[in-house]
Amino acid sequence: MMKIRVLPALQDNYMYLLIDPVTKDAAVVDPVEPDKVIAAVQEEGVTLKTILTTHHHWDHAGGNTNLVAKMKSLNVYGGDDRIGSLTNMVKHGDTFNIGNLNIKCLATPCHTSGHICYYVTSSADDQAVVFTGDTLFLGGCGRFFEGTAQQMYTALIEILGKLPDSTQVYCGHEYTLQNLKFGNHVEPNNQDIQDKISWAKLKREESLPTVPSTIEEEKKINPFMRVNHPDVQKFAGCTEGVATMGNLRQVKDNFK
Ligand SMILES: [Zn+2]
Repeated sequence: MMKIRVLPALQDNYMYLLIDPVTKDAAVVDPVEPDKVIAAVQEEGVTLKTILTTHHHWDHAGGNTNLVAKMKSLNVYGGDDRIGSLTNMVKHGDTFNIGNLNIKCLATPCHTSGHICYYVTSSADDQAVVFTGDTLFLGGCGRFFEGTAQQMYTALIEILGKLPDSTQVYCGHEYTLQNLKFGNHVEPNNQDIQDKISWAKLKREESLPTVPSTIEEEKKINPFMRVNHPDVQKFAGCTEGVATMGNLRQVKDNFK
């Protein structure tokens, strides 16, 4: 059992408050706007103990130092020493707890070299979620600022793609409609993408977030999770997954 509250921030970022309802312990993912986080913590009546930082970019880690100054004794987790106020440097496979929730760190270097995704499971039931920062977006993935196509292939196919299909995916930005538009360009005959576009438009018209998706859904609608599918490889003019990943990213970088 866990509760997740989506906190929109800046232009299109998402922060997340992760709560264990039993102990009332909470963690926040990428708290770039500390005042919004503090307000949500008070509303929920929970104890914020932990910051989970996906990567060092300002729009994710830029609120850490301010939040630490305003709330006492926070543990700040992350995988990169460029992250502000870091207290707990983590690596792939590290685990720790927030109340009764189990957190597992998944290193996914590529967007940045120290990027970490956080996989959360509950001992009370079989619910699982993953916070994917700027590695995996709904229908897309982050730019390869500090990594290679091979690294993003490892992150999306070998690591995130092997989580249970029902795992809920909470990503770092609301880029869904732009991503699905690109997906439709790559696979014009993919009905799942077309259906998701219609659904996402309705959500956004009401200013509602499109998160979370699931790993199962990403495998159906996200071209970067589908680099081993013949239709996606054909679009990329490639015959294997890693080259397809690299080509897709290049085309997407210039896609309007
Ligand atoms: Zn970023």
